[in-house]
Amino acid sequence: MTATRVLVLNSGSSSLKYQLLDMRDSSRLATGIVERIGERTSRLRHTALTTGETRETSGPVADHAAALKAVAEELGRDGLGMDSPELAAIGHRVVHGGSSFTEPEIVDDAVLAEIERLVPLAPLHNPANLTGIRTARSLRPDLPQVAVFDTAFHTTMPESAARYAIDVSTADEYRIRRYGFHGTSHAYVSRETAKLLGRAPEDVNVIVLHLGNGASASAVRGGRCVDTSMGLTPLEGLVMGTRSGDVDPAVIFHLTRVGGMSTDEIDTLLNKKSGLIGLCGDNDMREIRSRVDEGDEQARLAFDIYIHRLKKYIGAYYAVLGRVDAIAFTAGVGENAAAVREAAVAGLEGLGLAVDAGLNAARGDGARIVSPEGARVTVAVVPTDEELEIATQTYALVGASHDLT
Ligand code: ADP
Repeated sequence: MTATRVLVLNSGSSSLKYQLLDMRDSSRLATGIVERIGERTSRLRHTALTTGETRETSGPVADHAAALKAVAEELGRDGLGMDSPELAAIGHRVVHGGSSFTEPEIVDDAVLAEIERLVPLAPLHNPANLTGIRTARSLRPDLPQVAVFDTAFHTTMPESAARYAIDVSTADEYRIRRYGFHGTSHAYVSRETAKLLGRAPEDVNVIVLHLGNGASASAVRGGRCVDTSMGLTPLEGLVMGTRSGDVDPAVIFHLTRVGGMSTDEIDTLLNKKSGLIGLCGDNDMREIRSRVDEGDEQARLAFDIYIHRLKKYIGAYYAVLGRVDAIAFTAGVGENAAAVREAAVAGLEGLGLAVDAGLNAARGDGARIVSPEGARVTVAVVPTDEELEIATQTYALVGASHDLT
């Protein structure tokens, strides 16, 4: 029997999300999440898509090892166990791959050591990702584990886009540069956009706007990323749910010298208490839109700041690309908030950008065009699927490595 299943694991600091896919038709067999790992109130929610059944269990889950064992048990109850010969590989989302990882990698000790070396660049994410990989390895030491990096798609950026204009030796010593994140999503969505246009990715220039709770934009020329809005960390760029995005770096000196704030306090301020939540107290775009509709001025201003920044990036990436074939909106806000899409391109008719009110307001599941017939630039809604992309890359790598042996 050929092994065709891939288990995708996304390990956060206190959560473990997973999906089991069958790569013969990219279908989902099971999906779930373990939340609040390490607390007394941990919760596992598991859905077997083969039967449509969802089960929830709560009670303390001590660590990621215990979480993955619980997931393995749930999968086993549905006949989808991790010991199944049909499981081909486990694909892991790894947030920071630095400059070294330009492609997914089959995990060995050298890869683990390199992910470890990158911990200072992603102190919250990489340790959790490493724990997930080590745990999965201990459960199935015989199975290939593949690391798929959030940064990899962006490693094609030219130095002119990736380097900050700060002293070169300092930057190099501390590995300070633009790495970019959400790379699996930008890769997947830019390819799907080309598909929607009926063209090869190599022939298409796309601006991808990944607008979720975290948000980032990228400029993709012929299938390769040439610029992206997140930087050394996911803090830079667009206004996000709780992150400020771009600020004058001197804000930090000012808060230190005049505000007497510590580095950790400023870190928390800019990452957790800024963006939409800092501006209006809500970070959910649905809530913000309904407040705007009720005439709430604070929500209106937050929305306007969010849109202003988005527009600046559309303009910037238009200039970077020179020719734009499509703009793709994706993730929670991008896929669902028609008002955001409409406002982001309003007034940009001169750049060939517009949405058709009817198409933009219509809801739909798949990728779809929302610009008017014959528009110079296609505006599209392209649902992202990071798990499918991780599974696809994992399966391709494992298949390729089998061919070699
Ligand atoms: P994450 O970055 O956590 O993966 P998602 O891509 O799932 O986030 O996006 C979550 C966000 O999407 C929510 O915080 C909310 O602002 C937004 N969102 C989800 N559904 C809708 C909707 N129907 N209308 C507007 N915004 C939505």
